[in-house]
Amino acid sequence: MADTLLDRRDLAFQLYEVLDTESLNERERFSDHSRETFDAVFDTAERIAREQFASHNSLADREEPRFEDGKVTMRPEVKAAVEAYAEAGFIAGRYDYDLGGMQLPETVMTACNGFFMAANPSTAGYPFLTTAAANVIRTFGSREQQDWFLQPMLEGRFTGTMALTEPQAGSSLADLRTSAKPTDEGHYLIKGAKIYISGGEHELSDNIVNLVLARIHGAPPGVKGISMFIVPKYRLGADGNPGERNGVGLAGLIHKLGYRGTTSTALSFGDDADCHGYLVGEPHQGLKYMFQMMNEARVGVGFGAAAIGYRGYQHSLEYARDRRQGRPPSEKDPTTEPVPIIQHADVRRMLLAQKSWMEGALALCFYGARLMDDSHTHPDEAQRHQARQLLDLLTPVIKAWPSEYGPKANDLAIQVYGGAGYTREYPVEQCWRDNRLNPIHEGTNGIQAMDLLGRKVWQGNGEAIQQLFGAIQADLQEAPDERCRQWAYSLSETLQQAGKVTQSLGQALAQEPPEKGLANASVYLRLFGHICVAWMWLRQANAATQALAGEVSSADEAFYQGKLQAAQYFFHWELPTVAQDLVLLQNRDDTCYAMRDEWF
Ligand SMILES: Cc1cc2nc3c(=O)[nH]c(=O)nc-3n(C[C@H](O)[C@H](O)[C@H](O)COP(=O)(O)OP(=O)(O)OC[C@H]3O[C@@H](n4cnc5c(N)ncnc54)[C@H](O)[C@@H]3O)c2cc1C
Repeated sequence: MADTLLDRRDLAFQLYEVLDTESLNERERFSDHSRETFDAVFDTAERIAREQFASHNSLADREEPRFEDGKVTMRPEVKAAVEAYAEAGFIAGRYDYDLGGMQLPETVMTACNGFFMAANPSTAGYPFLTTAAANVIRTFGSREQQDWFLQPMLEGRFTGTMALTEPQAGSSLADLRTSAKPTDEGHYLIKGAKIYISGGEHELSDNIVNLVLARIHGAPPGVKGISMFIVPKYRLGADGNPGERNGVGLAGLIHKLGYRGTTSTALSFGDDADCHGYLVGEPHQGLKYMFQMMNEARVGVGFGAAAIGYRGYQHSLEYARDRRQGRPPSEKDPTTEPVPIIQHADVRRMLLAQKSWMEGALALCFYGARLMDDSHTHPDEAQRHQARQLLDLLTPVIKAWPSEYGPKANDLAIQVYGGAGYTREYPVEQCWRDNRLNPIHEGTNGIQAMDLLGRKVWQGNGEAIQQLFGAIQADLQEAPDERCRQWAYSLSETLQQAGKVTQSLGQALAQEPPEKGLANASVYLRLFGHICVAWMWLRQANAATQALAGEVSSADEAFYQGKLQAAQYFFHWELPTVAQDLVLLQNRDDTCYAMRDEWF
């Protein structure tokens, strides 16, 4: 089985040669850090991910959590791994020193989490959700809520969940029904049902802190009436320790295609006992608060999809070097040794596609993480604002493109293995099953597409998209040789056409019913995503070409040549495919819009 979780050479290239992550250390917040401290953090993440997470990835997939004797049981390795993650300080990795954190940049924490995602996405889910929930409480929770819940969460004693989805309200959160009735004692009584809540029940921690969206009695309908509540599994005693059981019940465990090690729960609130909830921030602002968590989670989903896609690529690469089958078409002698399948161009096609999709997707996610860093810590306010705007625009793309292409990469990994790939004896089918969740959760990719075309592109009078085009243009100018200039030219052409199409879609949206204007939003998202990933490949190709102009070791020479070949794959095989997207969008093709239910 392939040993590589995230390739350290590639990580160093992406973070230090393309993104200049070291420059973050000039900022006050990160001034104690250096490339050496970042690398030491990666060493720890890689070691724990390999020893404590990868080691039970397949076992936890085969032995799903079970509900027995009133408790959810699962393999003991999961608890040990979650504890090791917390003890190493990763839950609080981004946080201030005085909260017990390490003040690590998002870019570095994102890379760390890549090791865990590649190793075992199900077990990684528990601490990742905890970090995200803790972040909301830190930002919007009261002083008291922070004292009660934040510290135990950062230490891993309490875990977190996000509880939005209800049976009748998945994509459409406007239809949420869970209710919250105020009491004289300050808390609310929560009543309702949630479904698919990840990590909603288990015995991994002393308490589970659910962040629940609900409506306060008398709240306005739709998303404007949604508030956020902290609903713990156990109410806290006066000493801050978990005491009496709160009225959150496990209605059932949900059995899934992948991500089997993470409990997926149907939860009931206030069915058998009173369920206390504590309002976070202001009433009716719940969705806004949750969106902070979801935006972060969405970048995390994109990165996770890229990491699992990359893991499958590494497995299939190793297999293709090892598995012998057939001979080159020019070899007519059947008594000669069969060749490793990597010698067949068609197998290299499948490997290159995975490499170019996933290394492009990883680069896009790292770029997003860097924008998070800039939006929080750039010394110049105008730059912080620009980073926020650009991140906001790119979030649906960072969520959706890697999660669309991650499972496609895993599909090709299965194909590289042939029959072996279809069996449970080999790891790539699990990669595909796990990754298949990513286009669905945290807002389906269809919803991301509508968010991009219906909202994000037009925000601030289209300032963010202008900014994006400007940033791409700047990298086009940097192309250091003829080959990169050719690629820059293709990207520039596509960009111009995308600009025109965006304008005409904007006019259409102003004149037509939105259901017509948004009917092909997924096509627009694909076009947008391909442009962004091509841009990421140009940035990588520019860096690789510059490096090759100097003196490099033979290992580095192969590494950079690999980068250029993967960039070429993207520019020759992928970017041209958007021509069809452009035609559909330019013509405002109405095939799907006009199709009728009764015609199916
Ligand atoms: C394993 C797993 C873990 C999850 N974890 C959590 C969690 O921890 N917390 C939580 O709150 N939720 C969680 N979810 C729920 C998840 O976020 C939802 O499944 C997702 O948002 C989609 O909602 P739905 O399943 O109700 O699908 P639906 O909303 O019914 O969508 C079905 C299809 O219709 C499309 N569609 C829906 N509305 C529109 C529209 N207006 N326009 C165009 N297309 C539309 C969708 O894109 C999709 O293709 C999880 C789900 C799974 C499977």
